[in-house]
Amino acid sequence: MDKNQFQLSVDELPTKWYNIIPDLPEPLPPPKEPETGPSRMEYLAKTMTGECLKQEMSTEKWIPIPEEIRELYIQAGRPRPLYRAKRLEKKLGLKKVRLYYKREDLSPTGSHKVNTALVQAYYAAKEGKDTLVTETGAGQWGSALSYAAKLMDLNCVVFWVKSVYDWKVDRRTLMKLLGAKVYSSPSKETKTGREILAKNPTDPGSLGIAVSEGLEYTDTHEGSVYCLGSVLNHVLLHQSIIGLETIKQFEIAEDKPDLIVGCLGGGSNFGGIALPFAGEVLNKKRECEFLASQSEVAPNLTKGEYRYDFGDVGEHTPLLKMYTLGHKTEMMPIKADGLRYHAAAPLISSLRHHNIVKAVTYPKDEKTIFQAATMFLQSEGYLIAPESSYAVRAGIDEALKAERAGDEKVICMNISGHGFLDLFAYKEKMLEA
Ligand SMILES: *Cc1c(COP(=O)(O)O)cnc(C)c1O
Repeated sequence: MDKNQFQLSVDELPTKWYNIIPDLPEPLPPPKEPETGPSRMEYLAKTMTGECLKQEMSTEKWIPIPEEIRELYIQAGRPRPLYRAKRLEKKLGLKKVRLYYKREDLSPTGSHKVNTALVQAYYAAKEGKDTLVTETGAGQWGSALSYAAKLMDLNCVVFWVKSVYDWKVDRRTLMKLLGAKVYSSPSKETKTGREILAKNPTDPGSLGIAVSEGLEYTDTHEGSVYCLGSVLNHVLLHQSIIGLETIKQFEIAEDKPDLIVGCLGGGSNFGGIALPFAGEVLNKKRECEFLASQSEVAPNLTKGEYRYDFGDVGEHTPLLKMYTLGHKTEMMPIKADGLRYHAAAPLISSLRHHNIVKAVTYPKDEKTIFQAATMFLQSEGYLIAPESSYAVRAGIDEALKAERAGDEKVICMNISGHGFLDLFAYKEKMLEA
């Protein structure tokens, strides 16, 4: 049979994460303290788990995945399959181009974010913590962390930007069913929140406020740790499980990708699939290109500057060298809310700087994005997240370009999440437009 699904057995789940830092063309610029204010490094060290902090700085190329975390990954459905998109190829009339996609949408809460949430929950429990604290914008990270906390028997506290909290009822229900305490931010739980509410009781909140509330809560509650869902090195390290599986699956498929495509907000799903392949490119073991697909609302890789900037609006993080639009940049809401971030992860930025990662942006109205997602649904049968649809859009565009040029090409797209909690967006864009 000419197969269209490539799966690994549970026994073939990778046993190590891949850290690209030692393989980079030049050393990764280290984080820096800003010129004013308290030490951000000390602040970060105080709020994170020790193991994640250690991994953040690590220059070890391979980091063993503890047995207990491999068991959690398997519980969450790993390894996840790689598919050949034969029906989409047919629909597009492709003869010389082969399309593949990696199924991170099969995650319990609907996105790849579970891959790092489980790890952060595991280390927090091991270090004797009892509560995970975070902020969430679109709601995917809050759901993933709520799930991971519950599996490890920990509490979870989520500060959720009020303007989103108010209307994403289904995601809120999911987090609450998973036992999380979900606060609409600004909240009455923190001094920061109370001060803002005193000035304006109907303040819609922002990601910056939610981060500040989360950090303050962590600071004032013994036994709690703050968890971050993207951008940082240790998050991309945990996500490398995606690419490591995909490398093995392409061996089974007896094929080789020429191009890897992913959507990019902060860079965790893109880095997850791309970095293990990029490491082999840097070591001259493989040829492959990498394309990040972004929104014109947050074109950090195409319009950003490569410089030191804060990771958050509230200036709580150390300065990181990244392609950035500026940490105070306001970004218009879009359906693919998870892509609205002002900067790209330092690791991805370094690869971009060396021209190993390329990027493309799509218009704010997201029309062609939802058309691509609907074509994917109607050919392959899977309803994907609005964010992931940027990867599919770029994959289709690259496939058509190669086909027209008469080039044989193999393209792999990362499907970062499912779209079952985003049907309202599909309805608005495809049925009511
Ligand atoms: C959060 C999220 C993203 C964007 O974040 P990255 O760190 O860039 O991966 C993309 N897709 C989904 C489904 C998400 O939940």
